[in-house]
Amino acid sequence: MGLRTKAAVVRQVGGRFSFEYVILDDLRPHEIYVRMLACGICHSDIAVRDGLMSYPFPCVLGHEGAGIVEEVGEKVSLLSVGDKVILSFASCGRCRFCRSGRPARCIAFDELNFGGSRLDGSPTMWDATGKPLAGHFFGQSSFSYVSLTHERNAIRIVATDDELALFAPLGCGLQAGAGTVLNELRPQAGESIAILGIGSVGLAAVMAAKILGAHPIIAVDVVVSRLALAQSLGADITINCKKRPLLKAVKEHVKDVRYIVDTTGSSTVINQALEFLHPRGKISLLAVAADDHPMHAPTTYQKVVESIAGDSNPQVFIPRLISLYNEGKFPFDRLITNYPVDKINTAVEDSLRGVFIKPVLCFT
Ligand SMILES: [Zn+2]
Ligand SMILES: [Zn+2]
Repeated sequence: MGLRTKAAVVRQVGGRFSFEYVILDDLRPHEIYVRMLACGICHSDIAVRDGLMSYPFPCVLGHEGAGIVEEVGEKVSLLSVGDKVILSFASCGRCRFCRSGRPARCIAFDELNFGGSRLDGSPTMWDATGKPLAGHFFGQSSFSYVSLTHERNAIRIVATDDELALFAPLGCGLQAGAGTVLNELRPQAGESIAILGIGSVGLAAVMAAKILGAHPIIAVDVVVSRLALAQSLGADITINCKKRPLLKAVKEHVKDVRYIVDTTGSSTVINQALEFLHPRGKISLLAVAADDHPMHAPTTYQKVVESIAGDSNPQVFIPRLISLYNEGKFPFDRLITNYPVDKINTAVEDSLRGVFIKPVLCFT
């Protein structure tokens, strides 16, 4: 019964990740076990650990897993043992949004991704003493040597083991950043766009804007090295808003901006952005809100979109991002720093201090 493996458990809010033996539940008909090769660390993992997003404890986080299918449930039809897969968010597959190819809008998105269990409330993992753990984070809980997930979460790809490990972070942050530009905002060549906050999500948005020929691409952050990286990946104008007021600095270059991607979650930043957004422009909000200050109302024709996973259908969009990478148009490998999986706490601390853009844990 079940499968014994090791996973990074967080026992309480703000606690450390510590590897423990855990038992994964038996597979249901549409579920699979995936032996993990790599897993990116995303801001939501850290936000949950620090109590900024609600999730049950003790828990196993991780939601940018990539690995090899180890076992399949009896009704799994599209995957076989040995397949290489990237894991993305969970969706029900039955609601009208899932059926129309927009799983990021799934009506059960919150319960499936943030419920800590299957949709019927059953746990997917227990600790060594038999107490249930909140698993199934984004339907996968991939800070684990083996993940129990649903076949819908897994995108099969053809790749070497090294490539598969490299592609792990496509499952969340990079998909969200690129998706909001390529799927939601869709600037045309020559239209202006500003990207606020230059972490991995913001840099994915910069690369996507470059692919579409948006111009000018304005990158905003407070860290000089990140702005330099944004410039080398396609930003035409970089603004350090620690040194100059944002609104004033943008107006020195352009009258207004047609599209804006916010990854900061800061109402101070967003309220200034609404002032330089074109009267018929569109702003996409990607971040977990970092403060409680009120956001100004947009003007009548300005559109505010709260982006979930860049409105992506991972089964289609992740292979597209891999093609763009192979063509040299989406060089996200430049953002990645690898850590051995047992250095997970160091990787999280480095990420919080802004040392590296995208930490990825390697399980081998
Ligand atoms: Zn659905
Ligand atoms: Zn994420």
